[in-house]
Amino acid sequence: MENFESQPAQAESCTSCKQSDCSAKAPKPNESEKDHTRRQAIAQRMCHIGRKILVLSGKGGVGKSTVAVNTAVSLMLEGKKVGLMDIDIHGPSIPKLLNINSVPVSSSKDSIEPVTAAGGLKVLSVGFFLQNRDDAVIWRGPMKFGMIRQFLSDVEWGDLDYLIVDSPPGTGDEPLAIAELIGDVDGAIIVTTPQAIAIDDVRRSINFCRQLKVPVTGVVENMCGFVCPHCGEETDIFKRGGGAAMADQMKVPYLGAIPIDPDIVEASDNGTPYVEQFAQSRAAEAFRQSIVKTLFDLEQKGK
Ligand code: ADP
Repeated sequence: MENFESQPAQAESCTSCKQSDCSAKAPKPNESEKDHTRRQAIAQRMCHIGRKILVLSGKGGVGKSTVAVNTAVSLMLEGKKVGLMDIDIHGPSIPKLLNINSVPVSSSKDSIEPVTAAGGLKVLSVGFFLQNRDDAVIWRGPMKFGMIRQFLSDVEWGDLDYLIVDSPPGTGDEPLAIAELIGDVDGAIIVTTPQAIAIDDVRRSINFCRQLKVPVTGVVENMCGFVCPHCGEETDIFKRGGGAAMADQMKVPYLGAIPIDPDIVEASDNGTPYVEQFAQSRAAEAFRQSIVKTLFDLEQKGK
């Protein structure tokens, strides 16, 4: 995994595949043989994944990685086979959030095994490949593209029901690369906070999805209301209601609100998934009701 501009992985032949309408079967107009082989390699991995979901945010610090981890773990706790891919090159936080210190192994020249975390969650993070996890990464667009392509073509996810992708904030190289390379992303969860809701960044994320034909699963409003651990009273530290109004205005689903819970910070710092450790909490229920239920509804409807 040291060279992100390496030769395409040797894809198994597509000829045995029965899916006649797969766009990877034939090269696109003006597509080189090398690029077609690379696209086939990705398609062959993605064929084994039921649903590919991106987690996006307009800006940093709104709880995007927290939502990605807790969505992945909630799905796993519901019995799904789940992979979690962290392509946040400038701030990969998944290894810390899940307290993973091991690194993926190469099972052959062209493939990498993701790390299997507690409960069977398969995880791959760009953080695993940094020599020092505090290293600053300065990569230009083509290097990022190459790395993400390699993550998609070389990683042996095996059969998954869901692949959750934690993408960096904004609408830069990484979300663009992942959406283009996967080609048929099933949905994007856009995370924001009540005070950030009116900010153009969220609208930009929605428009980004529209341009790339990525269906918007919905907007989730994180850090919405604080439940006092002593008296149980809920206080809206930031505002409330803006998320639903904005979603309505932008004609995208509003998934719901996740309250502020100091245990989320505690769980994140300890590297234990919050929804597992505090399964009975109001915020864990909010994760299940707002995100997991929506994903299951969409799965049932085949959307
Ligand atoms: P992002 O990925 O958007 O940069 P993170 O997921 O890293 O944001 O979250 C930023 C900080 O906010 C972390 O310390 C995290 O534990 C905390 N946090 C996220 N959501 C909540 C919440 N609902 N209640 C309390 N703390 C939260």
